[in-house]
Amino acid sequence: MNQSPILVLTLLLAPITARADAEAPTPRPNIIFIMSDDHAAQAIGAYGGRLAKLNPTPTIDRLAKEGMLFENCFAGNSICTPSRATILTGQYNHINKVYDLDGRLDPAHQFLPIELKKAGYQTAVIGKWHLKSEPAAFDHYCVLSEQGEYFDPTFIVRGEKPWPQNSFKRDGEHVTDAITDLAIQWLRGQRDPSKPFFLMYHHKAPHDMFEYAPRYKDYLENVAIPEPESLWNQPQFGSIGTRGVKDELWPYIGTSIGERNAHRNYVKTFNHTGLPTPEQRKRAAYQDYMKRYLRCVKGIDDSLATFFDYLRSAGFMENTLIVYTSDQGMMLGEHDYQDKRWMYEESARMPLIIRYPKMIKHGMRTDAIIENADFAPTLLDFAGVKRPDVMQGRSVKAICETGREPADWRKSAYYRYWMHMAHHDNPAHLGLRTKDYKLIYYYGVPREGNSPHTPPAWELYDLKKDPHELVNVYDDPAYARVVVELKYGLAERRRQIGDDGRDYPAVEAVVQEFWNYDAAARAKAEQISHECLARYKAQSVSSSRQKTEQKPGRE
Ligand code: CA
Repeated sequence: MNQSPILVLTLLLAPITARADAEAPTPRPNIIFIMSDDHAAQAIGAYGGRLAKLNPTPTIDRLAKEGMLFENCFAGNSICTPSRATILTGQYNHINKVYDLDGRLDPAHQFLPIELKKAGYQTAVIGKWHLKSEPAAFDHYCVLSEQGEYFDPTFIVRGEKPWPQNSFKRDGEHVTDAITDLAIQWLRGQRDPSKPFFLMYHHKAPHDMFEYAPRYKDYLENVAIPEPESLWNQPQFGSIGTRGVKDELWPYIGTSIGERNAHRNYVKTFNHTGLPTPEQRKRAAYQDYMKRYLRCVKGIDDSLATFFDYLRSAGFMENTLIVYTSDQGMMLGEHDYQDKRWMYEESARMPLIIRYPKMIKHGMRTDAIIENADFAPTLLDFAGVKRPDVMQGRSVKAICETGREPADWRKSAYYRYWMHMAHHDNPAHLGLRTKDYKLIYYYGVPREGNSPHTPPAWELYDLKKDPHELVNVYDDPAYARVVVELKYGLAERRRQIGDDGRDYPAVEAVVQEFWNYDAAARAKAEQISHECLARYKAQSVSSSRQKTEQKPGRE
């Protein structure tokens, strides 16, 4: 049999070529992780909700259309510094020990940039950092000090002087514009073009106190921002853990839009005290708050349009994985609450959008339960890097590729807010969120404490029937079995992730004491509510006495 020499050569080479193709590493994507601060999902058009009709985020909505939107992504602890630590470590806060705003994440524990750097990525973080330690695991950093300023912001960079002394100021600029400009500058001229890059591009806005750039002063000026029902009416919401016995602690727990919380509310902060009725004052405070907030959001969205225009012109849109998220959500008047910290939906939910056209089809959505501990393993997975054992989360890459959650995907998100009655008067709590229900346990003890400072109590919301969490059904006999199952699930999740209370045994003893919540535990919790009221009343008398004793003009 005669074969042409070319055919013989082709046949000989074919298996080698095929094997070489199979073994050739897939080109690693560049990764841009965009994170705003306190940008709630309900203030993003693509998430729907009452604010979507105002069209606050056309640029972010387009990103969602071109990628995948995660409907059920949750922070494990809805506050800035702890959430950032979880994102960088892939660990829950009881493992990375960043429990509160004083948490440090030392360079040796900045696992995400460490692993990507080992894999050949050039790494950078630009914008808000908000962890005390130097971001030294990154090749390049240019970050705000602590919260940073909205106007004329100062940035800290690596340099000859020790952290955090090398800094420069961007005079005359709004922080959102400055951060975007610095990110583009790095991409355009400072990075090493021979390596794939990992850029964390973190905005400060729309964090309080919502100082928008002056060019947005007329945005939404003559628009009435829709109000959530729970701003006004929610008689069956909460528990004695959040309201006290017969609402006796309602004025003290959780800062408010209206004047319910006399210590901290937006009527006072935004100076609407002159209006004649409490309703008018609350309504004006809400409108004022939302306009400030949404003007900051609009600033972010416009700035992202500039940023994406640059990415398009530089040819980065195809081979770059782009993530948009926020370190947690925010209460935008729901339940008449300010701030985040709560396990309620608007606070604990994080927006999460991932765009990577090579692997993710346009317009995908998933309701799989995602936690912020999953972020680092996911980015590593897309970069072809094995998840190190220290990380606890799980990659969502397979969900991105198929649109389906694997059969063994987790069924619940775990939550624990460790701080207690700090800044915005939120009691410590933990809980479990499944697709159908949310169980919240207010155990009411500070991390270093050994007895409840606020009354322990449980709340259960049936999210299918009651998505806005207006009716606590914990004591409804129809849900008795659900309560038992969820408590079992909560204990099981705690065991799996190692939140067994070993570092704070006195706190854990309280958690266990009120776990079953029998008649004796309820009686004790009611007693704690009365004691708590007496303490807060005494404190408010002493603080008003102090104020009258102060000389005018000191505050
Ligand atoms: Ca935040």
